[in-house]
Amino acid sequence: EPDEICWQALIRDVPDFPKPGIVFKDITPMLANGPAFSAVISQMAERVGPDVDAIVGVESRGFIFGAALAFKLGLGLVTVRKPGKLPADIHSVEYELEYGVDRLEIHRDALSRGHKVVIVDDLLATGGTAAATVELVRKLGADVESCLFAIELAFLDGRGALEDVRVESLLSFK
Ligand code: IMP
Repeated sequence: EPDEICWQALIRDVPDFPKPGIVFKDITPMLANGPAFSAVISQMAERVGPDVDAIVGVESRGFIFGAALAFKLGLGLVTVRKPGKLPADIHSVEYELEYGVDRLEIHRDALSRGHKVVIVDDLLATGGTAAATVELVRKLGADVESCLFAIELAFLDGRGALEDVRVESLLSFK
């Protein structure tokens, strides 16, 4: 049974990345392990409610989990991307970083009014990325069933930025 594997042990702490004082949660050892990656996707699939129309994956690591989860559930994948990557008409949302602002974009025709989606990313930190993605989905008139993460850094209170959506994570660091 692949769910028996302790994939959590394959999340590696990398100190001082991307800058001094930050301890980065590195998921690459887990991704590189077949049974571990499979177990994570299976566990994510169990958190997805009924009648979901699409998975929304956030660039870049959200694409990895979003694509695998969409495939497992037989759903389509909508990509939310960094600026300048999507070729057709877009909606764009700015969000605050620790220093400065960044932007995320979605194709205007990617979702329709009333569609129900699950937003997927590898990790929830401050919640800025996910909150911007919720805003993009709602600009299209679609509804967010939940935001789903493999990992949550609970001490950064990303849930505080996502107060009006259901938030699910498989592994939470307090
Ligand atoms: P937030 O917007 O502050 O919640 O940051 C979440 C985004 O930054 C996600 O897209 C993550 O991929 C990325 N991120 C932040 N910290 C880490 C980490 O420690 N490991 C992996 N990704 C991270």
